[in-house]
Amino acid sequence: MTQITIAKFGGTSVANTHSMNCCADLILKDSSVRLVVLSASAGVTNALVALASGLEPEERSVQIDNIRQIQCAIMDELSPQEVVREEIERILENISALSEAASLATSLALTDELIGNGELMSTLLFVELLRQRNVNAEWFDIRKVMRTNDCFGKAEPDTTALFELSQLHLLPRLKGALIITQGFIGSEGKGRTTTLGRGGSDYTAALLGEALNAKRIDIWTDVPGIYTTDPRVVPSAMRIDKISFSEAAEMATFGAKILHPATLLPAVRQDIPVFVGSSKNPDAGGTLVCQKTDNPPLFRALALRRGQTLVTLHSLNMLHARGFLAEVFGTLARHNISVDLITTSEVSVALTLDTTGSTSGISLMTTALFTELSSLCRVEVEENMALVALIGNQLSQACGIGKKVFGVLDPFNIRMICYGASSHNLCFLVPGEDAETVVRTLHHNLFE
Ligand code: ADP
Ligand code: ASP
Ligand code: MG
Repeated sequence: MTQITIAKFGGTSVANTHSMNCCADLILKDSSVRLVVLSASAGVTNALVALASGLEPEERSVQIDNIRQIQCAIMDELSPQEVVREEIERILENISALSEAASLATSLALTDELIGNGELMSTLLFVELLRQRNVNAEWFDIRKVMRTNDCFGKAEPDTTALFELSQLHLLPRLKGALIITQGFIGSEGKGRTTTLGRGGSDYTAALLGEALNAKRIDIWTDVPGIYTTDPRVVPSAMRIDKISFSEAAEMATFGAKILHPATLLPAVRQDIPVFVGSSKNPDAGGTLVCQKTDNPPLFRALALRRGQTLVTLHSLNMLHARGFLAEVFGTLARHNISVDLITTSEVSVALTLDTTGSTSGISLMTTALFTELSSLCRVEVEENMALVALIGNQLSQACGIGKKVFGVLDPFNIRMICYGASSHNLCFLVPGEDAETVVRTLHHNLFE
């Protein structure tokens, strides 16, 4: 079979029938698109995440109504077959039952089962829309092939299983109908639904691209490409026409929402180009992410990641001692915490914990962890920090970077700086409320 293209459409692209029709137009223009990955309709996952947090009955019914309205607006315009209507009704009832379940608060498995429903509904409705346009489209349950571990909220896919199961269940189907499937969800060993973390549909598309040796992965979203920074924060941000995997991966890792942080890993492993464009405005072009670009600039982009916790550990025992850091990291590892940034001095260590990404929404600094760390040293925790990352090339070899960056950030309190470990980024922590102004100031001075 010739190599296929995988097209992924995000939440705003499948928010209503008009947007869904734009996606259908795009798919039908390119006969190499044989597999389509969809997010939930815009607003649905947010409402499901809110429901999973355990709401009071009144607020709960507001969120359930909200989801129902989004999906019913699409159904009303489509007038789908009775079986589809019944299936959507069944899912809506399941959402309602799950969000009332007393065990929801303690069960991450139930949380993922609840949150994964958005993608089930959007794909069912999209298949119906395609069929009404006389397209031979088939709904495929991605959980048949996307096996993951049981880290509910941010599950890790089993790429070997995905490869084998895709050859078995997906590949033969691609020769017939156009396959429509869900991003974001998977299933663990016991068959329970898992999720890959917020924004995980991009990752699904890339994993499928790798498993099926796709020729390209198209990520269709609400902006025509990857910009020098989030155009919603800095309207004068410029589109980047071509960017390398490593630069784009740094952007995604450091919070550029345009791509889920893990998206590029499968694409890099298999050297599959990724195109990012706007489903509503495909003629505006987009960004091609590929192995190499000519003349990569010193400064490429700025990214912003909110929801950072800064933990500072002080202990005089650290002075000339051996093994103290090992003890601290041993404690963090036992609590299954991955440290993000770190800086040290003689008697203190500052590190950041990243609370973004997971759908479980649980604070990483639990009472148990705090107590255990406090038995080793004095612990200070500062929440609501933001990480600003300047992404570029050969940054650690260039002269005058410090002055260029921090010279214009005089009015701000920079809490922590990480520079030198990677030649692709310089990042620092600022109070959450300053983050956007810091990004605007830097963009204005370094990119415009
Ligand atoms: P989708 O639902 O299609 O996955 P997302 O909301 O996840 O879309 O991602 C698209 C959004 O990413 C844009 O609307 C934009 O605000 C944001 N964004 C953040 N950083 C960038 C960037 N560097 N370039 C383009 N968009 C960005
Ligand atoms: N629907 C999920 C989310 O909103 C996954 C995605 O859109 O990529 O996080
Ligand atoms: Mg996204």
